[in-house]
Order: sequence, then structure tokens, then C-alpha cells
Amino acid sequence: MSAARYLPTRPSMTDFTNEPFTDFSDPANREAFQAALDAEIARMGEAVPGFIDGVEIAPGEDGSGELTSTNPCAPSEVVGVAPQCTSEHAERALEAAAKAFLTWRDVPAAERAAVLFKAAEMMRSAKHEFSALMVLEVGKNWAEADGDTAEAIDFMDFYAREAVRWDTAGRVTPVAGEANELRYVPLGVGAVIPPWNFPNAILCGMTSAAIAAGNTVVLKPASDSPMIGLRVAHLLREAGVPDGVLNVIPGPGSKVGETMVNHAITRFISFTGSKEVGLGIYEKASRVGEGQLWLKRVVAEMGGKDSILVDETADLDEAAAGVISAAYGYTGQKCSACSRAIVHRDVYDEFVERLKAGVAEVSVGDTRDNPAMGPLVSQSAYQTTLDYIAIGREEGELLAGGNAIETQAGGYYVEPTIFTGIAPDARLSQEEVFGPVLAVIPCDDFEHGIEVFNNTEYGLTGALYTNDESRIEEGKRRLHVGNLYFNRKCTGALVGAHPFGGFNMSGTDSKAGGGDYLGLFLQAKTISTKV
Ligand code: NDP
Repeated sequence: MSAARYLPTRPSMTDFTNEPFTDFSDPANREAFQAALDAEIARMGEAVPGFIDGVEIAPGEDGSGELTSTNPCAPSEVVGVAPQCTSEHAERALEAAAKAFLTWRDVPAAERAAVLFKAAEMMRSAKHEFSALMVLEVGKNWAEADGDTAEAIDFMDFYAREAVRWDTAGRVTPVAGEANELRYVPLGVGAVIPPWNFPNAILCGMTSAAIAAGNTVVLKPASDSPMIGLRVAHLLREAGVPDGVLNVIPGPGSKVGETMVNHAITRFISFTGSKEVGLGIYEKASRVGEGQLWLKRVVAEMGGKDSILVDETADLDEAAAGVISAAYGYTGQKCSACSRAIVHRDVYDEFVERLKAGVAEVSVGDTRDNPAMGPLVSQSAYQTTLDYIAIGREEGELLAGGNAIETQAGGYYVEPTIFTGIAPDARLSQEEVFGPVLAVIPCDDFEHGIEVFNNTEYGLTGALYTNDESRIEEGKRRLHVGNLYFNRKCTGALVGAHPFGGFNMSGTDSKAGGGDYLGLFLQAKTISTKV
């Protein structure tokens, strides 16, 4: 990949502002995106290497296999081929990262930040390329892909500034006769294990935060999105992340990921993914391996079962629009997706009518054509969604959808689906579906609504639609989720504005994109000098 393609478009050392989303109502922007998409389509099938210590591993070489990434809109289409790395690669990558840590930890924070500013600038100037690749590899529509890339740019810009801020953040009480300081120093080698659903933003954020803080990284992209992971890794390398500081090894989580988690070199694990895998990692990381000198730190962001509560005073049009957008944006495959609408009985019927009208407007199709909703990411995600729809048929009444959509290309499409009359303790009310399936749950009053809102093992995002000020205040205290919204949807967190992370089984509440996040990849050192 040539760095010459990336041309700086604006200086980075200004105050942080969010990367603007592309306005696709502007024909010029649509044309530019279509051109990027055509270019990505022309590149489909290409083989892209991983790398360890700056040495590339081409698919099928150096003991690797071939990991073929396909288009969920048309699974016979190969988007690209990545190396399928092994546990042996993971060990080598960890050793390379440990060696690189000895120099990277001493690189001044401003220099580390400069590399990330440059990477952000490079991605900004090539943003439609990154987004177009997501349209093909994980079935995002244009706006969802654009939002994902904007967030990745934000993360790099934000964490670069944070690295500089944390470098001088230590505060101690003055004592006569001593010069005292508190410095934040990096941890060491990090295992970065992201999911496929924000394959640019989350992967890029987790990686760049660790590197900005002075750590070194072994990155294993999710197996459903290796090509976008590799593209981000190559961009970081071209921006100036030195050999060994970032190593990227696509491969199966059950082998490569496990080795990264269990290895004695690993100082911390930065994981985002399902509750099941997260819990396994948490447990394994607690074991101290032979020769291991530290307790591993685990940052684990996991699943959600997110609710929008609609009371009898709410603006029902706005609430229905918010629920539809949060339930079906990226086919319900967001950890923050609304999968439960909890609705006061007094407005239940009216609200359900609005939902029915709203869902009828959700177009489904190949994301190259930019519909509202694309496919599920994989055959297994598709099957899981259909299994939950079968459960929903037992547990409630089908209001809309409920079927797979067959296409000639065999994409993993399922209709946007709504079940009404779901009981608060039903499986559809408790378990993460991760697909376009909404459960509508009636509640008797506000108190009951709060109870249902809080009745899952998760605690990631949620929203309340109300026109009652006192309920907003009460909601702030009692609705127990990490990201709580009022009179707006529960998806769409912005870096800096809405630090992101959940309570309970949604994870360690890391608050990605917030001022506390970098501290998770640092340790504090107290230094006292007699003067
Ligand atoms: P998974 O847990 O299946 O996978 C996440 C990552 O873990 C992948 O890279 C995977 O590799 C890897 N992995 C799998 N098994 C192991 C193992 N035994 N040891 C180490 N690593 C392993 O999640 P998904 O990728 O399917 O992502 C969807 C989930 O992520 C949902 O539950 C969603 O709610 C959650 N999520 C949470 C967010 C949050 O901020 N709280 C944000 C985004 C998603 P491989 O792909 O090779 O299996």
C-alpha cells in the first residue's frame, strides 16, 4: 500500500472536534463514495499480508494458512485473503512486541501522538476507501460505514491528545524538602482482540489507545473482518508506528487469541466482543503463568440487551423513529442496538402502530446499493437470528418481518422483525440476539418500566422518552446502564461527547473515547527526591 495515496487535508494540532459525517444527500459526495466503492470492488480478491516485527506474512506463507473473507451480501464473492496465523505466530509476535517495548516506552508522548495524528490524517484523506471496504466485507450501508470510519479517525485524534495530557497529569500534595511527582508509565505488551461489528472504529481505537500510551501491541482482528483490520494496521505502520510496536496476526480466536491471552509476556488484554468469550478471557487472564511477573489487566467490553423506555407523556413519533433507527441500524448488529422497547400500556397500541409503519419503511438489500439495512455478517449470525425469531414466535406475537429474505446471490438477509407482547423475563427480553429483532414489552407504569429496564444481566446503553422533567431526573439515578440517553436513540455514541462502556455483564465499563480510557493502559509511578 503506498503512502502517496494519502494526502493531508487539514492540520491536526487543534482542539479535538468530531470528524463530520458525510452528507450523502449531496450528489457530489454520493459520486465520490461510489468511485471509492468501484475502486474497492476492483481490488476484491487481493491477498494482504499481516506482519510481525515489520516482516510481512503473506497468506499461505511462513506457516500460515489462508483466511478468505467473503461478502455477506453475496457469500461467493471473495473480498480478500488474509494469512490465517497460528499460535506460533502469536508467540513470535508477543516476543517482538516485548523487544519493541524497551524503546517505544521511552519515546516522548508528543512523538507518539504525532504518529497517531498522522495516521488520523491519512485515514481522513482516504476515508471513503476504508468505508467502502466495510460495505463489502461486513455489509454496512454507506452511512453506517462512514460513521465507523469517522469514529476511527476520532479515536486516533483523541487518544493522541490524551497521551500528551496523561504525560503531565499526575498531581501530588507539595511537601517541604522533597520534590514529588506522579508519572504515568505504560504497562507493556497488550493483546488487542476486537470484534467485527465496528471493524475499523473499535479495532483502531483499541489499538491506537494502547500504542499512544507507550505500550506495544499484538493485534488479532476478528475472523469475519480481517481485511479492514489489516488495512488499518498497514496505515498505522505507514504513518510511522515502528516495527514490533504493532504486530498484526489474523487467525482464529480459539487458537491465536487464546495464546495471546495465556502467554506470560502479555501484560494486558484489551477485548471487545461477546459475553461468553469475554468471561473466558477474564478467567484465563487471572492465572499466573511460569515466569510471569505481573497480574494481567483485562479491559473487556461485552454484550448488551439495550432498552428504550417510552412513557405515556412521550412524543410517540420521535420515540418510534428512535426505536426503529436504534433497532435496525447496521441490521441490529451493534452492542448498543435497541432490542427492547418497553412501552407504557396507556400508549402501547398507538406506539405499536407507529412501529409497524416505521418498520415498513426499512429497505433491505445489498449494501452496494445503500439500502437502510444490509445482511447479517455471516451464516452463523443469520442462523442465530432465525433461531431467535423461532423463539419469538413462541414467546410473543409477530408484528412485522419474521422471515429470511432469499436472493440469487445468497446473502444473509432477514426481515426487520418485531414481536409484541413479550414478557419481561422471556428469552427474547433477556438474551442478546445481535440481529434485527425487536421485542416490545408492555409496562404498567413508570416504576414498572424502570424495573423492566434494569432486569437483564447487561447494562450497556438505554434511553427514556418522556416529557416529564421529574422522570428524567429519576431516570438519571435509577436507569442502570453505562450510556444513558433521554429523548434520543441509544446508539450513535460520539468520541469525546459520549464515553462508551457498560455495567454488569456488559463489561469493565472502560469508557472508550473518554478522558479516563488511556489510564487503563498506564500505571502510576510515585517519585520522591530529597531536595
Ligand atoms: P466474539 O466474542 O465472538 O469475538 C470477539 C473477538 O474475540 C474476535 O476477534 C474473536 O476471534 C476473538 N475470540 C474468540 N474466541 C476467543 C478466545 N477463546 N480467546 C481469545 N479471543 C477469542 O464477538 P463478535 O466478534 O461476534 O462481536 C459481537 C459481540 O461483541 C456482541 O456480543 C456485541 O455486543 C459485542 N460488542 C460489544 C461492544 C462494547 O463496547 N461493549 C462493542 C461491539 C461489540 P474470531 O473472530 O477469530 O472468533
